[in-house]
Amino acid sequence: MSKFNKVSVTEKNRIKKLIYAKYEKNGLISACDWASDFNKNHIAEIPFEWCVACDNHTPSIDHECTCCGQATKVPTQPQFYQAVLKPIKDVIKHVYPQGGVTLEERMGKNASCAECGENKWWLLPSEGVAVAQSGKAYCECLNCGSKTHL
Ligand SMILES: [Zn+2]
Ligand SMILES: [Zn+2]
Repeated sequence: MSKFNKVSVTEKNRIKKLIYAKYEKNGLISACDWASDFNKNHIAEIPFEWCVACDNHTPSIDHECTCCGQATKVPTQPQFYQAVLKPIKDVIKHVYPQGGVTLEERMGKNASCAECGENKWWLLPSEGVAVAQSGKAYCECLNCGSKTHL
């Protein structure tokens, strides 16, 4: 974790002012460059955190963007998930419980992959962004990785 948040308030304010001056004069990139250069020469590094308002990783002191003053995202531990493959008996029933469609209508004859001809598919987890945003059930060919929606 960054050590800069442990330095004195006076030092923090001094650095905040310096970065903000850069930001006002030459913009975000130059403010970030200044902080990166500072970090090369100092043990107590200024943390870079994600600022939604600046749409960038920005130098952030006490989780506050030194450029725009908005709260930055406090870094969390990375988390990884593994999806487990589990056979789906009737994928149409699974995806379209209301019925009214057939597999052939959705994916062509024998649900063959248009790219490689195989027909083993992995239904992408609904937590994924592509699925959540489109509202469609996506599946990926287990043989070639080509994606299609059901
Ligand atoms: Zn910002
Ligand atoms: Zn394929």
